[in-house]
Amino acid sequence: MASTGVGEGNKTAAGSSLHSKTLLKSQSLYEYILESTVFPREPDCLRELRVATATHHMAGMAASPDEVQLLGLLIEMLGTKNAVEVGVFTGYSLLATALALPDDGKIVAIDVTRESYDQIGSPVTEKAGVAHKIDFRVGLALPVLDQMVAEEGNKDRFDFAFVDADKVNFLNYHERLLQLVRVGGLIAYDNTLWQPLSERDRALAAATREFNAAMAADPRVHV
Ligand code: CA
Repeated sequence: MASTGVGEGNKTAAGSSLHSKTLLKSQSLYEYILESTVFPREPDCLRELRVATATHHMAGMAASPDEVQLLGLLIEMLGTKNAVEVGVFTGYSLLATALALPDDGKIVAIDVTRESYDQIGSPVTEKAGVAHKIDFRVGLALPVLDQMVAEEGNKDRFDFAFVDADKVNFLNYHERLLQLVRVGGLIAYDNTLWQPLSERDRALAAATREFNAAMAADPRVHV
């Protein structure tokens, strides 16, 4: 299992503002990657949802286009049939995952609200013909994950999980996901590198540092 970290980013769909989401500290290099490789391969439905998400006042919560293409590649390489996503927002990474799954694949999507998904992501997902792969569960992720762990047949059933949710609970999600995701599967965590700029960021950065230290010391996973 591995973890992936990409910084939280800015508001619009343009390449220049997406730069803040990347680990690459050269804006021109990141723009080159987007223009040369990411945007030409971006499915129309993902582009539509990315642009629509950019109009949301909390658009910075969305994953970046290069990130979701990487996740899609990993999902296909793993031969993923069953996936979990913790933190949905408008459903941008959820759509990318659903596209990467086989037609009989399933993704359990967890969020405290499906308001942004219903408004922005759901129509695009329906139009893309992948809505049947999505099992959306509304609620706090911890009790939902606990319920999934308790459900018959769910242990080691999942191949892939993506966590882009409240950072202070990452370790709690990790314990549940280790029971749900099979050996050889992948658990991807967003935002494991968090630059402390504001007071709120400092708290998130502290939680993220604690999480990274726990991952580095966790003998059950490769990082
Ligand atoms: Ca994120």
